[in-house]
Amino acid sequence: MATPIERFRRLLGEVYDLNAASSVLAWDQQVLMPPGGAEGRAAQLATLSSLAHTKFTSDEMGEALEAARQETDKLDADSDEARLVSEVGREYDKQRKVTAEWVAEFSRTTSLAHQTWQKAKADSDFGAFAPQLKPIFKLRRDYADFFKPYDHVYDPLLDDFEPGMKAAQVQEIFDDLRTHQVALVQAIADAGPTDGSMLHLHYPEAEQWAFGEAVIREFGYDFERGRQDKSAHPFTTSFGINDVRITTRFMEDFLPSALFATLHEAGHAMYEQGVKPDLARTPLADGASLAIHESQSRLWENLVGRSWPFWVRFYGRLQETFPAQLGGVSLETFYRAINKVEPSLIRVEADEATYNLHIMLRFELEKALMEDNLPVDDLPAVWNDKMQEYLGITPPNDAQGVLQDVHWSAGLVGYFPTYALGNLVACQWWERIAEAIPDLEKQVEAGKFDELLGWLRTNIHQHGRKFKPTELIERITGGGLSAEPYLSYLRTKFGGIYGLS
Ligand code: ZN
Repeated sequence: MATPIERFRRLLGEVYDLNAASSVLAWDQQVLMPPGGAEGRAAQLATLSSLAHTKFTSDEMGEALEAARQETDKLDADSDEARLVSEVGREYDKQRKVTAEWVAEFSRTTSLAHQTWQKAKADSDFGAFAPQLKPIFKLRRDYADFFKPYDHVYDPLLDDFEPGMKAAQVQEIFDDLRTHQVALVQAIADAGPTDGSMLHLHYPEAEQWAFGEAVIREFGYDFERGRQDKSAHPFTTSFGINDVRITTRFMEDFLPSALFATLHEAGHAMYEQGVKPDLARTPLADGASLAIHESQSRLWENLVGRSWPFWVRFYGRLQETFPAQLGGVSLETFYRAINKVEPSLIRVEADEATYNLHIMLRFELEKALMEDNLPVDDLPAVWNDKMQEYLGITPPNDAQGVLQDVHWSAGLVGYFPTYALGNLVACQWWERIAEAIPDLEKQVEAGKFDELLGWLRTNIHQHGRKFKPTELIERITGGGLSAEPYLSYLRTKFGGIYGLS
């Protein structure tokens, strides 16, 4: 007869399988599906997610959870089983608080809003989108109310992506960061322009694909348990720890686009490939949070992939791949070009030094909207004012301003901060890694990544979602989330490139 924990894990495995099947369908939708399949696919995804939700929030699950808890109360609180029970219990309680009516209304509203947003963005017409955005923020305030009492109305939303994180903490970190980051970007702008024109020559897709794939193989992305395909927007998806896939997109007139997207997604995917097998088919076979996930993608994309030692290793090979385009370009010139800092309008195209400013702007607006302190109709004007204040530029239209991101149309509020927090966390890890592997730069220069990946596997990847993000940061750094390592990284790197004092 099955033990209570076995019974609990069997139920969780069934929910996991339903979600994994949804992920396969969603992957297919973005990679292979012909346009005609859209309607049928939406119905299939809705059916599967509703089955998964019903099963996860069922009384049967509640009873299995309770029975498992009685067993794990006798175990070490940090054992896999005890952590599994406490994490599932947390999620179960959260999901049971939200009414079915709210879920249905939210799903209806956001699917309608998504279509409206696409058209409004194409027409650069915020006025067409505003009537759909108002009910989304109203629904999000209602959602927060399910979790009263809270310190701030934004907290329950943030908690969905960063368990345990509070809006006040994010605000404090961002306040600390903003003035320093604005000053750094200004100093770089004053240092004069950088030539990036060679990156805009013609770079055929096939060679770009082969080069990027060779690099991530050397990083340690396992193609026996993954694959890379093309999609409109790069993403990583997991159907289990032995099938973690990535996608990328190619721009033949801009070399960095596909290459760094490939390194970024491989960073996400190596995280999930590294989760220990004991956690498979449970909710713990996942990243600790979005920020921790993003710390892994940014680490491989930026701290490794945009670093000097990395290009000492790979630039010769890139020149051999593209002799006509790069044969006459020195390593120094190329390195400056891929690290060019320039205030820009579009978040997803922003460089390392300006990126977080785009996030702070969104966080402040989301918070004001959730507090009901900012009318939706005022968004474009406030957006443009803040862009001028933080980045010194004003969007010429709403498509390149307030309408650029998909998140709000999908009801994703509280998501943006995780991107910026991921950058900070990556730099906190990096300082620890440099202590643990004193010749790290030499290893990267020699194309040796196994010790680096091994450190990440041991300290982060194997645990999956077992520890809360704040616990993981504490275990590794001995302290909390901090902006200082990130600022110091930016100052050292860009101070060197731009000759700042
Ligand atoms: Zn990412």
